[in-house]
Amino acid sequence: MYRTKAYAAAGKTAPMACTSIPRRDPTARDVQIEILFCGVCHSDLHYARDEWHEVFPAVYPCVPGHEIVGRVTKVGDGVTKHKVGDLVGVGCLVDSDRTCPNCKAGLEQFCPGQVLTYGSPDKHGTGPATYGGYSASIVVDEHFVLRIPPNLDPAGAAPLLCAGITTYSPMRHWGVTRGKKVGIVGLGGLGHMGVKFAHAFGAHTVVFTTSPGKTEDARRLGADEVVVSRNADEMRKHAGSFDFILDCVAAPHDVNAYIHLLARDGNLTMVGVPDQPLPVNVFGLILQRRSVSGSPIGGLAETQEMLDFCGRHDITADVEVIPIQRVNEAYERMTRSDVKYRFSIDMASLKAEEPA
Ligand code: NAP
Ligand code: ZN
Repeated sequence: MYRTKAYAAAGKTAPMACTSIPRRDPTARDVQIEILFCGVCHSDLHYARDEWHEVFPAVYPCVPGHEIVGRVTKVGDGVTKHKVGDLVGVGCLVDSDRTCPNCKAGLEQFCPGQVLTYGSPDKHGTGPATYGGYSASIVVDEHFVLRIPPNLDPAGAAPLLCAGITTYSPMRHWGVTRGKKVGIVGLGGLGHMGVKFAHAFGAHTVVFTTSPGKTEDARRLGADEVVVSRNADEMRKHAGSFDFILDCVAAPHDVNAYIHLLARDGNLTMVGVPDQPLPVNVFGLILQRRSVSGSPIGGLAETQEMLDFCGRHDITADVEVIPIQRVNEAYERMTRSDVKYRFSIDMASLKAEEPA
């Protein structure tokens, strides 16, 4: 075991501050990674503030961060996928049972024995829970370590590990292709990746935003149309016309307004996880055989497929790079929808800190 510097929240109202956490020494199948950049996901904030208490109670101290890009510094004797010096990524999963039907199908995101990058019981007994990427280094089984295409900027590639795969996977599942009309609700970290992918897949892409000031950016990111969702007239123009809508909103909102925009057999997939249940008007579903579903991240094989797709199409997140010392301010800005469009922490900034 060794210790490494990290930023942790000591409780749900505590700001994040520098601390030191234990990491295991790499075992035969492990890869040790020096973390270069870590994206800031709204899930980090939900978790650190214990907003998902009923389903996923926070364990403190918590070290969030599941959009990790770094360099391999050491590998175990049995590692074949990665070598020292490689640029690699780690997303939301660091382990699974490897034996269940989901794992065998490459769908580790549905494994009942999955281990999340932070906040899961630590099988190795290194700490009470797993610790995420707001830290200087991490040790992960090679199966859960992804290759980052070398042409991608590491700061902008980090958010692909969660925001990227979470939007790519449901669009692939629901057949988003050329000729389809696709809506993306909420232009934040996930939403802006959703726009880039829908555009790259050739779909007619419409962004729904509560922030009129994001209109220009939405078009630059690949939207064919932009609707300010608080304008009822603008919303009505699109009634019954969408094949697929991806809802990326982090707060309670009216999903019925979007269900009504779906065509016959259209689907609305929720990837945003508001902390309150959302009422659904069943008439909106049955009259046009519409469906509402949800989707969590993606499996390891599909995450690598997404990264390789991004490598070929030169897709990364639009990031505002911050030092770790500004992460509390980044959280406040996220609660005000003031993110353009993902914070990416430059982990070199942790070198200047001393654990309290
Ligand atoms: P984010 O960067 O904070 O973006 C959320 C966006 O939602 C905001 O920028 C804003 O866009 C819109 N919004 C915020 N409050 C709103 C409100 N009251 N009404 C309507 N729209 C509102 O968050 P993120 O990191 O993209 O994450 C979004 C959600 O996805 C979070 O709940 C997160 O936990 C969840 N998530 C789920 C998965 C999964 O596996 N399913 C993975 C990662 C994250 P506009 O300004 O354009 O309106
Ligand atoms: Zn995330």
